[in-house]
Amino acid sequence: MNATCSEQHRTACGVGGLFTALAIERCLPIMHCGPGCFGNVSATLGSMNGGQSGETYLGSVIPSTNFCEDDVVFGGTERLRKLIGECEKYYDADMFFIVDGCTAEIVGDDIGEAASEWAGSEKPVLYASLPGFKGNNVRGHEQVLSAIAEQYLKPARGTDPKQVNIFGVVPFFDPMWAGSLDALEELLTRMGLKPNIIYGRERGVANVDKIPAAGFNLVIAPWTDLSLAERLKEMFGTPYLHFDNLPIGPTETARFIRSVVDYADLDRGVAEDYIKREEDRFYYYMRRSYPWIFSCKNFPRKFIVNAASAAAVSVVRFAVNDLGLIPSRVYITDGTPKEHEDMISEQLRRVDYDEDFDVIFTEDGGLFEESIKNEDFSIRKICVFGSAWDLVPAKKYKLTFVSVAAPYGDRMVGSRTYFGYEGALRFCEDLYANAADNIVDPGI
Ligand code: SF4
Repeated sequence: MNATCSEQHRTACGVGGLFTALAIERCLPIMHCGPGCFGNVSATLGSMNGGQSGETYLGSVIPSTNFCEDDVVFGGTERLRKLIGECEKYYDADMFFIVDGCTAEIVGDDIGEAASEWAGSEKPVLYASLPGFKGNNVRGHEQVLSAIAEQYLKPARGTDPKQVNIFGVVPFFDPMWAGSLDALEELLTRMGLKPNIIYGRERGVANVDKIPAAGFNLVIAPWTDLSLAERLKEMFGTPYLHFDNLPIGPTETARFIRSVVDYADLDRGVAEDYIKREEDRFYYYMRRSYPWIFSCKNFPRKFIVNAASAAAVSVVRFAVNDLGLIPSRVYITDGTPKEHEDMISEQLRRVDYDEDFDVIFTEDGGLFEESIKNEDFSIRKICVFGSAWDLVPAKKYKLTFVSVAAPYGDRMVGSRTYFGYEGALRFCEDLYANAADNIVDPGI
């Protein structure tokens, strides 16, 4: 759908890709950008997205050349070179990652040439061009990973068939990335694999180094990082498994586990025991609340999604297959590349529901509010799975609301995740709390 203007963006500009570098412990982003660029992206990806910040390096210490008028006239690469040198002296880091924004790109500063002066130095200096005019932060994320593959990775001496690299999750952009990756790591370890994740606590550059030694790569997302997996296959011959969503709830989680177990030829008995135990536990807790959830007069029967593709596919599968809710419309707001739109539409419709429903690809998050203006929700209860932007219309029309995507809101996300069996219980808690009390501010 084409809009004449767009509002309520749910992505940051391309330079937001620096958050992917920031998610790698002890990797320091160095910005060759205007003074306002970090502030612009950190609201959507940090403060207003679950209260997140860099852990090794807080946003306030990320160095920048603060590209200004003089640099537009004379070029800013000399100042960038100096800044890299100072960073090497004063920052304790294992990797440096230069990113540039619009102004440096427009005047033609060559950050690759600046980085090349540090080729062969003990601490690698990588670079990626992330101007906002070329795309959003999801493109930026892919550029950062591509730079790691092209500029840094070397073939391994041997491979470990049990090692699996995890890709697809976009750190910071997915507000629950940290908790989800921890839970995913634990699950895959129980299945007998050695998951290798590069983002988050106690992982860092050491795990980046291990990427070429993997037995296979797992892309657990509708489309992000598929191009990286293809590239790693070309470079190192690493095969990959694509599972199209980060599963929530018993149906998708069991399907995920069985897919991985079959692909990697793992012990099926271990997996089935695990699935049975976790399903029993999940339904035990659901049964305890079932009478109240489904007798709640505000509990929705239909839902609308207004979110990034990764959140949308996960939520639609859980809401339809496990909760029995009916999809009304799905807005995909992350700027999914045109070539993936048919695939995402098909992924969204791969649920236990025979009727068709609209899937709309748009970066205009405001279209959802426009579409509900004339609807009567007094009897037909509906739920919105979206971002903090959707809280205002949800309150206005007294709709049940659960935040599932960026910008998540200024509620601390911590280690919270909707992943798997345990995460599905958190999801149901949030859904019921809001349905039962949806005229009260849910705290976002
Ligand atoms: S759009 Fe360009 S100038 Fe604006 S924040 Fe992004 S990189 Fe900086």
